[in-house]
This record gives sequence, C-alpha cells and structure tokens, in this order.
Amino acid sequence: MSVRRFDVLVAGGGPVGLSAAIRARLSGLTVALVEPRSGPIDKACGEGLMPGAIDALAAIGVSPPGMPIAGFRYTDGRRTVSHRLTRAPGRGVRRLALSELLEARADEVGVERLVGRVEDIEQDDRTVHAAGLEARWMLACDGLHSGIRRTLGLARPSTAPRRFGIRQHFAVAPWTDLVEVHWSAGIEAYVTPVAPDVVGIGILGPPRTDFRAAIESLPELAGRLDGAAPASSVRGAGPLRQRTSARSAGRVLLVGDASGYVDALTGEGMRVGLAQAEAAVDAVLADSAEGYGREWAHRSRDFRVITGLMVAAATSPLRGAIVPTASALPAAFGAVIERLAR
Ligand SMILES: Cc1cc2nc3c(=O)[nH]c(=O)nc-3n(C[C@H](O)[C@H](O)[C@H](O)COP(=O)(O)OP(=O)(O)OC[C@H]3O[C@@H](n4cnc5c(N)ncnc54)[C@H](O)[C@@H]3O)c2cc1C
Repeated sequence: MSVRRFDVLVAGGGPVGLSAAIRARLSGLTVALVEPRSGPIDKACGEGLMPGAIDALAAIGVSPPGMPIAGFRYTDGRRTVSHRLTRAPGRGVRRLALSELLEARADEVGVERLVGRVEDIEQDDRTVHAAGLEARWMLACDGLHSGIRRTLGLARPSTAPRRFGIRQHFAVAPWTDLVEVHWSAGIEAYVTPVAPDVVGIGILGPPRTDFRAAIESLPELAGRLDGAAPASSVRGAGPLRQRTSARSAGRVLLVGDASGYVDALTGEGMRVGLAQAEAAVDAVLADSAEGYGREWAHRSRDFRVITGLMVAAATSPLRGAIVPTASALPAAFGAVIERLAR
C-alpha cells in the first residue's frame, strides 16, 4: 500500500494544532492532523482568551462564542486591584465550544483529520514519516506532556517548584466581567465568566491541591459559589513548567505547550501558542526551520519573562506581597496586564 503524502503533518488536535492546520491549509498546503481523541476535546484550562488570541482565531475564520472579559481583578481578601483592558476585551470561551468550532473549520478548509497517535518518527533531510504518513514537515502540537518532545530528545528538566492546575464549572451567573484571581497563602483561584449562567473556576497550586478545600480557603469566592451546582467534572493538568532545549529537530517543529510552558498564572497560553502556530506555518512556507527558533523566542518572550518572574515571586516568600504591591502600584499592575493580554 502506498504511503499518503502531505505537506504538513500536525500531531495533536488541541487549539494550537487545529489552528496551525487551518492556517497551513489556508496557505495552500496539504495537511493531515493526527489526534488520538475524537469529538470536541475538553482540557483543564482557565478558558480566558486574550485579545491577541481572539485576533489570531479571527484571522483563520473562527469566532468562538463566550463572555466578554473586560480585564483582571486580583484580591487577597484584604486588598484588591483591578485593570480594564484598553485595546479590546478578551473572551471567556468553553474549551468544548472552541474545540468544536476549530474542528468544523478544519473540516471546512480541507484538513484531513485522522484518529491516531504520533509515536515513532523517522526523518531525513526531505521528509518526515510518522503515523503511517509522509510529510515534508511535522508540527508537534501534542501538548504539555509532549511525547514527541521526549522522543526527539528536546525535553529539559525543570528545577522550578511543581505547580498544577485544576478546573471545574459552576452554574451561577457571572457576578463580574473581570477575570478574578483570588490569592490565598498557597493557591490562586481564577474565576472566568464563560456563559450567561456559568463560571469556570481554575485553581493553581502545589501537587495534591484539593479543589473543594482550595475554594473553602477563600471566603469571598466560597460565598459566591455557595449553593451553585457543579456544571462539569473536576479536571487537572501538570506539572505546568515544561522546558525545551530547542524548538525543532530536523523537519519537526514543536508548537504550543509542547514547545515549553511556564505557568497558567497569567492565562495567556493560547495567545502564545497561536502566535507560535503562525510562526511555524511561516517556517513551513519558507521550507526552513532556521527562523522558527528566533520567532518562537520573540513571540513567547513576555510569557517566559514576565510570567516566569511572577511565578518565581508566587512560589517564594514574596508571595504575600504580590497583591499588596499591585494594589499600591495600580498603574504598574495595569501595564503588566496590558503587556501580557496583547
Ligand atoms: C489550569 C490551567 C489554566 C489555564 N488557563 C488558561 C487561560 O485562561 N487562557 C489561556 O490562553 N490558556 C490557559 N491555559 C493554557 C492552555 O490551556 C494551553 O496553553 C493550551 O491548551 C495549549 O494548547 P495546545 O494545543 O498546545 O495543547 P493541548 O490543548 O494540550 O492539546 C494537545 C493535543 O495533543 C494530543 N496529543 C497528545 N499526544 C499526542 C500524540 N502522541 N499524537 C497526536 N496527538 C497527541 C492531545 O490529545 C491533545 O488534544 C491554562 C492551562 C492550565 C493547565
């Protein structure tokens, strides 16, 4: 049987893989996307799309439904600081809704979606072979725990404190148009409005953080959720920090969480991943991986530097000073939010 050939093989049908596949297809390339799960895919996520992510999705013809996010509010129960985004709002979007729309758009533009898993990879200087297919390039978009990253020897150990994320939805009307971040001594709880009658709660913290106990440790949030029925099951992800030694090996490019991840603290993984997807497709069109590492570094710099510094503070004795400092310096808080939410 002859092997099917494509310009691009995308491994992973999360938001980054699907967006990269659609973008590549819209650029005239033939694209196969291999994803082990079928149907809309859920994932532990805060579900806040920053304005830059909304723009990147609009550029490939996708406008997901959701609730406007006007900005961010940090509170530690005693002090509060908030900032309203100046350029455009973000949007709280259920992962299932985003996945469904991206899958439909991928089908519409002619991405060949296949159920399977990319494992063994063989490549020479012209082609990549994997999952029974041949392609000129592979985009590895297989997420936080990327097996492809490991297979290619691009994973690097992290010495950062291990942090995990857990999320659940609750049937309650959003009480704010801001993403609220509630800080306790050990965890942060995110509230994202995602529908007129649903909020998503994401908890970030150390290993074995208990979702219920985390909510109970935050009286203001516990009061808001009192009596609200869960609208989804609890899902977790982590450890969040993932490092890479390089962003490509031969004709395989790492994209999205697979290429390295800092933390969900600043809620911009999708914006950064979608920007990397654009750069990866440009590299394929140029038929060269040479510029990709540089573009990847450029497009993820704020995430790596600013989010990295914030996580370092959040996991140090300075943790308790974060909200008081932000509330004492609201202009600086606003500038950081604007920078990350671009
Ligand atoms: C708790 C938490 C809260 C977050 N909050 C936000 C937020 O508010 N806003 C935001 O922008 N980002 C947020 N993020 C980050 C965001 O979820 C990720 O950055 C985003 O999902 C990355 O997309 P991706 O497509 O790279 O990876 P994923 O969404 O993980 O998709 C990877 C896909 O690859 C598939 N796969 C795995 N192995 C293989 C294989 N071998 N072959 C083929 N396919 C494979 C998987 O099944 C999966 O579908 C949060 C993350 C966490 C953990």
